[in-house]
Amino acid sequence: MTKNSGVPPLEKVLIANRGEIALRIYRACRELGIKTVAVHSTADTSLKHVLLADETVCIGPPPSQQSYLNMPAIIAAAEVTDSVAIHPGYGFLAENADFAERVEESGFTFIGPRPETIRLMGDKVSAIRAMRSAGVPCVPGSDGPLGDDDAENLRLARSLGYPVIIKAAGGGGGRGMRVVHSEAALLNAISITRNEARSAFGNDQVYMEKFLDHPRHIEFQVLADGHGNAIHLGERDCSMQRRHQKVIEEAPAPGITEAQRREMGELCVEACRRIGYRGAGTFEFLYQDGKFYFIEMNTRVQVEHPVTEMVTGIDIVKWQLLIAAGEKLRIRQKDVEWRGHAIECRINAEDPTTFTPSPGTVTLWHAPGGPGIRVDSHLYSGYSVPPHYDSLIAKIIAHGEDRASAIARMTTALNEVVVEGIKTNIPLHEEIFQHSAFKTGGTDIHYLEKRLGLK
Ligand code: ADP
Repeated sequence: MTKNSGVPPLEKVLIANRGEIALRIYRACRELGIKTVAVHSTADTSLKHVLLADETVCIGPPPSQQSYLNMPAIIAAAEVTDSVAIHPGYGFLAENADFAERVEESGFTFIGPRPETIRLMGDKVSAIRAMRSAGVPCVPGSDGPLGDDDAENLRLARSLGYPVIIKAAGGGGGRGMRVVHSEAALLNAISITRNEARSAFGNDQVYMEKFLDHPRHIEFQVLADGHGNAIHLGERDCSMQRRHQKVIEEAPAPGITEAQRREMGELCVEACRRIGYRGAGTFEFLYQDGKFYFIEMNTRVQVEHPVTEMVTGIDIVKWQLLIAAGEKLRIRQKDVEWRGHAIECRINAEDPTTFTPSPGTVTLWHAPGGPGIRVDSHLYSGYSVPPHYDSLIAKIIAHGEDRASAIARMTTALNEVVVEGIKTNIPLHEEIFQHSAFKTGGTDIHYLEKRLGLK
């Protein structure tokens, strides 16, 4: 991939993350001949990529605030190790525009979009405005943040029709949203969401959208090089969610036609060009009754990127590194082909029925294998899952010639995988894969919670 490009590769990359994504980035760096620096908290000295990296730097105690979110410690680690670039992974500082800015001001390359792009898309109100003006369809709602005029807000909600959803401009991770079913509850909901947003995100702007009652979550993956070249890698369906957290993702999305893929993909690509996007990114949409509605853009690599890699054969993390080194995208849109179907199961260290986290020592780990199976995981027998972080411990991805074959391979893999010593949500996945609605495909975002009796 690096041959003949004339652009010198990044020499040494600091990985500002942990767990499976840190290992994924380590692997991509190694394949490209890039040296790696693993930064870690005192709870993470035995993480797999920490054991494998060329250099390691302890950046603080277990709480994320003092380690993985500790900007001065991470930048100091880049300085002492002579790193040239910082890969933020997902979560933690990945979508923090101030961090990206400090990284660049300190003379390092931030592996991601420019800080101003992160800022534009990180504020949902400005993101929706930018997308509307690029011709991307958005959910009917307020044009910008809600003001203090109660009568006006009541009028807007009435014109949209209840239910509506009040969302914080600075919200994320499923936080800062409130569904309103009746006029009586509207004004109170706006003021509560506003107060919560002020204390949680330091930004009290809220906006209103029509609440779609049975949407699917479909998102488009893009790659842009910052030199005006951009492509899309098609869509993923991430509708199988619990508490706005994705549980299973797949590509392509069942029932989406080639014409829809082309139309929406081209809109996303055009939006990338307009905002001068650089790197890997995802446009998230709700999809209902044959229509797409933009909800937000993620300006980073996503947990579910492997399903796209499996169907396109394109290594998204490698391209993040190459683009950060200044390379131009050499893949043209016409070169992107989608082959077969891929499904990902997120394996979490948690009780499969109560969902309470289950940290502890993994006494036995046996990864599944066979044709079409990929496992992205930092687990090994004897590894202790710390209680301080996200409970994602593995991603199992199954690829097959069609959806039925991907399901058959995943069912076999779930039966084969062994994790002892801690509880996992593998039984939940096994159950979902037996559901006839899942086998048919195209379930909406409420399906799983309804099946679990949570709604
Ligand atoms: P976050 O940044 O917190 O993930 P999003 O705007 O992406 O917030 O919304 C997260 C989830 O909330 C969506 O995947 C969907 O399940 C639900 N949601 C958001 N907006 C709407 C809406 N207008 N109608 C119905 N559900 C919505």
